[in-house]
Amino acid sequence: MHQQGTESRFGGDVPERVDVVVVGGGIAGTSTAAHLARAGVSTLLLERGRIGSGATAAAIGVLSPPMRQPFDETVHFRGEETARTVWELALRSVTGLGATLTESGKAESAELDLSGGHVLADAHTLHEVDGSFRALEKAGLPVEWLSAERVRELAGGRGFLGGYRIEGLGSLASGPTARALAEIAADRGATVREEVEVGDSRRANGMIVCETSRGAVRSEMVVYATHVDSRRFSAFLGDEIVPIRGQGMVADPVEGGRFPGAFSTHWKLNVWRSDPAGRLHLGGWRHDAWDRSYWKVRPELDETLQENIQAWFESSFPERAPLSVVRRWSGIFGWTADYLPLVGPLPGRTGELVVSGFSGGGLPFAFESGRIIAAIVSESEPIEGSGLFNPRRFA
Ligand SMILES: Cc1cc2nc3c(=O)[nH]c(=O)nc-3n(C[C@H](O)[C@H](O)[C@H](O)COP(=O)(O)OP(=O)(O)OC[C@H]3O[C@@H](n4cnc5c(N)ncnc54)[C@H](O)[C@@H]3O)c2cc1C
Repeated sequence: MHQQGTESRFGGDVPERVDVVVVGGGIAGTSTAAHLARAGVSTLLLERGRIGSGATAAAIGVLSPPMRQPFDETVHFRGEETARTVWELALRSVTGLGATLTESGKAESAELDLSGGHVLADAHTLHEVDGSFRALEKAGLPVEWLSAERVRELAGGRGFLGGYRIEGLGSLASGPTARALAEIAADRGATVREEVEVGDSRRANGMIVCETSRGAVRSEMVVYATHVDSRRFSAFLGDEIVPIRGQGMVADPVEGGRFPGAFSTHWKLNVWRSDPAGRLHLGGWRHDAWDRSYWKVRPELDETLQENIQAWFESSFPERAPLSVVRRWSGIFGWTADYLPLVGPLPGRTGELVVSGFSGGGLPFAFESGRIIAAIVSESEPIEGSGLFNPRRFA
């Protein structure tokens, strides 16, 4: 995963004074650093391991659907305008990310494939999938219904009775995308440092002082993009970001061709994509294994869940079975109570912000979330919809 040539670029001295320190080099922190640097803010991104090696490395890479909650359910509980605002923010985020990767010549290494986000329905979920589709269409969002025949042409499989495609979404390789964004941030003037851990932070003489494994750094502001490891910086974040363990695997190419874009069923209990070499990236978790996933902070392999996910895929796509799985892993999602991330000022703390808690959907939301942070820091016009992500809603 670590790319040649970036090692020395992300090594070196840590400056003693910057405007903003971003802690955490996942998709959230690298997106934020890229936007801050573009806004002309002197930015230092610190990652304790390698860039893109946290939850971001565990992601399957689907950008769709942005929220696991069916759209009509979001409309029911929050109203159509709010539901649409959230989805439009995600669509804008993916468009912006795609354009940035393409303009910088990094779309290929990021395995960007924006040929649509496909949500498939079987007999158990057809009613719900249809309800979600109708609500999306009514809200004017870019969706197209797929007949059972169209699903077979696109993906093969058996037992799918239909589904829908969300235009503008798709898939990517998340770890390489984070590295690409860190390089873009560095090209724009940010300092990016790997293998620097941030310890405590405190206020002194109107500045924030972060103690790091390479000495103290003073800044006007700090942005925590530390996902489920945020408790050391704030009890509020520790309480609001709930860890849930998910499973992933990658399998050798099989008969049947590549899946275009992103695929999911059962509200993201199963998600998958093909990479450019035709390998299958497959993952998810299970409602019936809640006790083995919820509040699990260590990314341990759960063999039964791995087998269940694989068995689900093999029985749904018998023409592609058996899968030859070459790597298996697990990772931790950071969930909030309303499925929306925490993006903005940390309640009760001056100069400290957060961009975390993506509830299993960091890839479609992180880029625009970084733009929200940059707008707050540079005191420019607030980004549309950013109020919905403000952490004060839980304070
Ligand atoms: C199995 C699995 C599959 C998934 N699939 C998808 C998917 O297909 N699509 C999707 O959208 N989402 C998916 N997700 C969710 C996605 O991975 C997350 O939403 C996203 O990666 C979160 O990014 P992040 O930057 O917030 O966190 P991270 O990538 O975890 O980044 C946080 C970083 O902070 C660093 N850090 C923490 N503390 C410190 C410190 N004190 N000092 C310095 N650095 C520190 C960590 O090392 C880490 O690199 C999946 C998750 C899992 C577990």
